[in-house]
Amino acid sequence: MTDIQKKLFDAACVAQKRAHAPYSHALIGAAVLMADGQIFSGCNVENASFGGTVCAERVAIFKAVSEGAKKDIKEVLVVSDAEKPWPPCGFCRQVIAEFGSENTLIHTANLQGKMKTFKFADIFPEAFGPSHLD
Ligand code: ZN
Repeated sequence: MTDIQKKLFDAACVAQKRAHAPYSHALIGAAVLMADGQIFSGCNVENASFGGTVCAERVAIFKAVSEGAKKDIKEVLVVSDAEKPWPPCGFCRQVIAEFGSENTLIHTANLQGKMKTFKFADIFPEAFGPSHLD
């Protein structure tokens, strides 16, 4: 793990403990590294209506945007309590496509620090994004 990855992992683990997941019982944490060096974290926040549920990755990204961070995600780290690290879901990949790039690094990890890294373009190729609306 690089120093940045360790910082992302630690931030995601703190957020993971705050997850509101009374329905799935899946506790997820995420952290994003923005182009300006800031790190934002988030946890999944479930809702009794289910449709109101937001994943940890999107919470972290929306926090970064709402706090005024430069809108270029360099790295995303997702941590779950599952043995096999969970990757971002389709909704989160679409949001990463909005604020990241094909070179954004996606790290999936479990609480023991087992980690797998992907280049975003490899897990979400040919993404629909802002350039399609130019
Ligand atoms: Zn998601």
